[in-house]
Amino acid sequence: MPMAFRRSLACLAAVFYLLLCSCAPQGADASAAAQKFSGTFYGAFDTVISLIGYTEKEETFNAAFAETQEIFMHYHRIYDAYNAYDGINNLYAVNHSAGTGPVAAEPELIDLLLYMKELQPLLLGRVNIALGAVLSCWHEYREAGQAVPPVEQLQALAEHCSYDDVIINEEAGTVFFADPYLQLDLGAVAKGYACERAAQALLNGPMPSFIISAGGNVRCGLSPLDGRLHWGVGIQDPIAPSFLNQIMETLYTHDMSVVTSGDYQRYYEVNGVRYHHIIDPDTLFPSGFMHSVTVLTQDSALADALSTCFFLLPYEEGRVLADSMEGVEVYWVLNDGSVYFTAGMGPLLRSQGASSLR
Ligand code: ADP
Ligand code: MG
Repeated sequence: MPMAFRRSLACLAAVFYLLLCSCAPQGADASAAAQKFSGTFYGAFDTVISLIGYTEKEETFNAAFAETQEIFMHYHRIYDAYNAYDGINNLYAVNHSAGTGPVAAEPELIDLLLYMKELQPLLLGRVNIALGAVLSCWHEYREAGQAVPPVEQLQALAEHCSYDDVIINEEAGTVFFADPYLQLDLGAVAKGYACERAAQALLNGPMPSFIISAGGNVRCGLSPLDGRLHWGVGIQDPIAPSFLNQIMETLYTHDMSVVTSGDYQRYYEVNGVRYHHIIDPDTLFPSGFMHSVTVLTQDSALADALSTCFFLLPYEEGRVLADSMEGVEVYWVLNDGSVYFTAGMGPLLRSQGASSLR
């Protein structure tokens, strides 16, 4: 099955699972007037994005859905590394020209670059948005699907991946690469960053009871207005064939983000070996510590950056990092299928007795 098709199938299955999860169980009806609405769109961040919301009027949902779609598309264009758009100084434009001198960048792009600069110490050098030269080499080989990049080529490209060479002039609104071969890749965080902006707009609008699902990034709004306290978010079984989209656990939460990074989401195979899309900055090869990791925290951008980071850390190191952080819970599926989770995660899991009602 072609990869893009397999991915779309998996995304669609995830959407259906969310729709399933959002069916009201029997119990108190907190708001008899509110109804459930849902919608799906494609076109942003290479994934199917779905929105479910509880509100009294269909017009309210339709307006919220349109705004959500607009926000995702807006950020998609700005963080797109592959396409230019008229009148937008996006990532593609910056990657193309910032090596020769300072170039204008959209404020939303500058904001994300500064956010990642701020996060750098937390990410322990695992997530590096200046790794673009290495990542785009992997991307080309993955698209061709025939071979693995030569180590020497990866090592030569890795000489041009220092975030210190990204010079941001906030006042002038420009970006300059002190290393002309440097390339930025925002894939580890852009979707989460956009998702959080969309979620904030919904939380501050007339339909704050919602859930957004954006291919591995889920952002829950306030409680569903059907008597439940929590939304149920499925954690996919990373070992089952990905097109089956089998759920191994359900996490109950509201006003939080649940983001998963996994080796089953985007990969190709050469001589029977699977090469996925999350690259260890030391080995320059796909990291092999685990099948998937799921992060629960409020901010979707942080959840996205952290899920990629935890995926690139051995479980033991990740556990120390997770335990040191307030408001962050983590669920690991290691290569042998064993599961670990932080103390605060346990009480939210269906397997541990949690439910959507309390
Ligand atoms: P997904 O994009 O499937 O939701 P992630 O959020 O984990 O998954 O991000 C993976 C993406 O991050 C890759 O497709 C690539 O663009 C980028 N990436 C991979 N490895 C690294 C890394 N070590 N540092 C920064 N970005 C990375
Ligand atoms: Mg991520």
